Amino acid sequence: MAREGRLYIGGGWVPAHDGAVAEVRDPATGAVVGTMAQGGPAEATEAVAAAAAAFPGWAATPAPARAEALRRVAALLGERREAIAALMTAEQGKPLAEARGEVGLTADYFLWNAEEARRVYGHTIPASTAGKRLLALRQPVGVSAAITPWNFPAAMIGRKIAPALAAGCTVVCKPAPATPLVACAVFECLHDAGLPAGVANLVAGPAEPIGEVFLTDPRVRKISFTGSVRVGKELMRRAAASMKRVSLELGGHAPFLVFADADMEQAVAGVIASKLRNAGQTCICADRLYVEARAFEPFMAALAERVRGLRVGPGTDPATDVGPMIGAPAALRAERVVEEAVAGGARLLCGGSRLPGPGHFFAPTLLTDVPSGSALEAAEIFAPVLAAWPFEHEEEAVRRANDTPFGLAAYLYTRDLSRAVRVAEALEYGIVGVNDPVPTVAQAPFGGVKESGVGREGGAEGIAGYLETKFVSLALDPGPSGRG
Ligand code: NAP
Repeated sequence: MAREGRLYIGGGWVPAHDGAVAEVRDPATGAVVGTMAQGGPAEATEAVAAAAAAFPGWAATPAPARAEALRRVAALLGERREAIAALMTAEQGKPLAEARGEVGLTADYFLWNAEEARRVYGHTIPASTAGKRLLALRQPVGVSAAITPWNFPAAMIGRKIAPALAAGCTVVCKPAPATPLVACAVFECLHDAGLPAGVANLVAGPAEPIGEVFLTDPRVRKISFTGSVRVGKELMRRAAASMKRVSLELGGHAPFLVFADADMEQAVAGVIASKLRNAGQTCICADRLYVEARAFEPFMAALAERVRGLRVGPGTDPATDVGPMIGAPAALRAERVVEEAVAGGARLLCGGSRLPGPGHFFAPTLLTDVPSGSALEAAEIFAPVLAAWPFEHEEEAVRRANDTPFGLAAYLYTRDLSRAVRVAEALEYGIVGVNDPVPTVAQAPFGGVKESGVGREGGAEGIAGYLETKFVSLALDPGPSGRG
């Protein structure tokens, strides 16, 4: 049955003022999954007002009570895992097993931050004089806006909202237009967990006018964004006008280094897990494969054989390894980039084009001999397409891996412990997976360096992003001894 998503403002599910809705379609079939109410500046302003009104009460709620509410959200996500995963597969396309994993990760964000809410410690500082006491308090930043992408439609909400709520902030979330119904399902858990009205709000609709409210309303104190580098830069530039806090989780262009001493079977499986999860539409997925020259040909042959055997299809089919891409423009762009590389002399080992519809399927693609200057070398492809190059020695591998403006995730496969430590330390990235293709967990800091963003989400660093430090200097009366 088609779902009808509404906005969630001030504790109630509401339509847009003008009744506007947008259709949400299944990328595997083109079928209508449901509709989502389309708010605009007026609804976004109402949501900010609701969050601002709820803020003093939520900030003053004892941490154990905030933690309890977040634990209930995690439990509800667990209970509704199958239903939310099925909706996610219908709306976003990823295979059901991956969707289940994402709902589990979302629950983890709520659970971990529920625990962390109880450990938001300040500290005392030795004073310079006997009559003073110095305290550093940690307090919630205030109303926080979260702008989330379609590729992890539940986990990105959890990664932003759970630490914000744990810290005592109230939130307004704008989900991506392709995946608002999963956002509604997550917010149903927040509602049913009994969060007070206005503590968490959801406003879908056109990005720019809603973003404009977040950027200009003085009640919004922080903007947390996950998405492209282009939009992230624009938000950061504009947030500077009122000095709002920003945390930006932006695109990557991950290098994946395979040294000749690596366990080759593990490395082949690692490349596939990293690159083809979510049909290559993952910010931390392998984007540039560098293999030590003496292992290059056999490694690529083994990898191509495995990739050719993968099944591309709808995420609802348990036999599917790789689901559809999110939409026709993304699949067409990937095809054009591959065609240009091949026209310039690249060698296609497998895949290379879109597959027959009705969905937006793309054959998993491997390329070597990619001409220099190709778009594949310059920036993330965000598709099931991987280009590979041989390297001669460790220094060359590190230099080529770092030769990019991006710095989100990098991977290396080796059995040499000293090399693993050396290379992990030399890679200019926020996340390094050593013999590990899937490094994301709720308790670890996630984020990029260079143009891949600022700030960290997840772990203790994630909640710190929603806290301000306030210094309180107490001058005491002299007291009976006269010394304070
Ligand atoms: P995007 O175009 O930047 O969009 C992301 C979100 O921002 C969407 O909800 C979008 O809404 C909204 N948006 C666009 N312009 C805006 C504006 N001016 N003001 C406010 N909001 C605005 O990115 P995408 O193509 O959907 O997502 C893929 C990108 O996200 C990739 O680059 C990927 O690497 C990155 N990503 C990064 C991480 C990470 O943690 N580092 C995780 C996942 C994805 P509209 O769609 O309506 O424009």
